[in-house]
Amino acid sequence: VWNNCLSFIKDNIKPQAYKTWFEPILPVKIAGEALTIQVPSKFFYEWLEEHYIKLLRVALVRELGDDAKLVYDVRMENAYSSKNPHTVKIPSSNRKPFNSQGITVPLEIDKRELRNPFIIPGIQKVKIESQLNPNYNFDSFIEGDSNRLARSASMAVANKPGGTSFNPLLIYGGVGLGKTHLSHAIGVDIKDKYPEKTVLYISAEKFTQQYIDSVKGNTRNDFIHFYQMIDVLIVDDVQFLSGKSGTQDVFFHIFNHLHQNGKQVILTSDKAPVDMQDIEQRLLSRFKWGLSAELMAPDYETRILILQKKLFRDGVEMPDEIVEYIAKNIKSNVRELEGVLISMIAQASFNRKEFTLALTKQIVDKFVKNTKREVSIDYIQKVVSKYFEMDVTTLQSKTRKRHIVQARQLAMYFAKRMTKASLASIGSQIGSRDHATVLHACKTVDNLTETDKQFKKYVEDITKKLSF
Ligand code: ADP
Ligand code: MG
Repeated sequence: VWNNCLSFIKDNIKPQAYKTWFEPILPVKIAGEALTIQVPSKFFYEWLEEHYIKLLRVALVRELGDDAKLVYDVRMENAYSSKNPHTVKIPSSNRKPFNSQGITVPLEIDKRELRNPFIIPGIQKVKIESQLNPNYNFDSFIEGDSNRLARSASMAVANKPGGTSFNPLLIYGGVGLGKTHLSHAIGVDIKDKYPEKTVLYISAEKFTQQYIDSVKGNTRNDFIHFYQMIDVLIVDDVQFLSGKSGTQDVFFHIFNHLHQNGKQVILTSDKAPVDMQDIEQRLLSRFKWGLSAELMAPDYETRILILQKKLFRDGVEMPDEIVEYIAKNIKSNVRELEGVLISMIAQASFNRKEFTLALTKQIVDKFVKNTKREVSIDYIQKVVSKYFEMDVTTLQSKTRKRHIVQARQLAMYFAKRMTKASLASIGSQIGSRDHATVLHACKTVDNLTETDKQFKKYVEDITKKLSF
């Protein structure tokens, strides 16, 4: 069967691609309509899924009929791969078998029969699909100073869900620093230790969509009931709820119900609770009940370890100087570290090239350019005080000397313009002022820029220094 598939595939793609991506596959077994193939690494499997799933599907359906299934067996070269092979029912072309993270979604259920797509009708008991990605576990999450608190709090919660004072546990931090990974890890670990508990991972965005649908479909009560049955609820990116008062309201009730019944709630957000805007006060105060743990950007050593672990997982060898070059240049986002690796592996295997420093520089450059720099308030204060030849403490001081006041106002103005921080948080970081002072500063700068040529030049100069 596999040979027939292969010759069909060979006729339909470039010889080089065939050699790279299909020759290394080993057929393992065939059971009914399910063919199991062994692939060398998880990366390999993801690549096939992303680029050749349609072709594979056609090839298999030709051989095994409409119900053909493909099971991947990812060769277990290390301990980090998931315990189970990924099983996919070959989807009809309008269905997507995987979401972007490579989670198997329950295709077998026909969503039309269900009010809630996460409930699979069982014989006696309803079973809730956790929506967890087994690859996002504690083992694969590298520990470093930047994430120690968040990681150990997460492990404590996983050991005793609902039984610690970390309820809710709120994990916050910038993009690509591992919030989603860590929140899945908690769920995966709980499922392992307490298989009877119902765990559900959901993004705040999807939660919102479900809620809106439930209102439209007159099933709001079912929606609430469903969520109140859960033992461990993980809601990712709760900042998405900002400004959505209906969803906040329903979430508030679900949260209270779960909390009162000793159920665990885990939340993630890209901002600290103090910086969340347009979230109702009562909900914010609930968020602060448990523990808020920040994920920070990893330091150099941690970045090296993360790269090494990913390489090991994918069974790829890379010279140390190249790994070091990547870790030196990609600093603030783990997702980008991974992105560089994936581009490099793809390029190298397509062109049968070695990993060279030149190739690395090219790829790293592209990544660095594509990322808009998010400057920090600290950095803004440094640049502004340097520009006016004063130190940061002077800029922050209570003095009313005109040039110092102006420098301070400019720092506030740039902080508002160039970061996502709220007025209150900007005020507290620039000399403990309140949000009204910051607002006033922004207005003053706007006015002065229009009326005062010298001042306008300050703004232009500093803008240049900040955006280089
Ligand atoms: P966020 O949700 O904060 O934007 P993610 O959880 O999606 O970030 O992480 C981005 C990528 O980086 C994921 O593939 C994740 O596995 C990886 N990652 C982040 N932190 C770590 C870490 N400490 N160790 C290993 N991988 C990490
Ligand atoms: Mg995320």
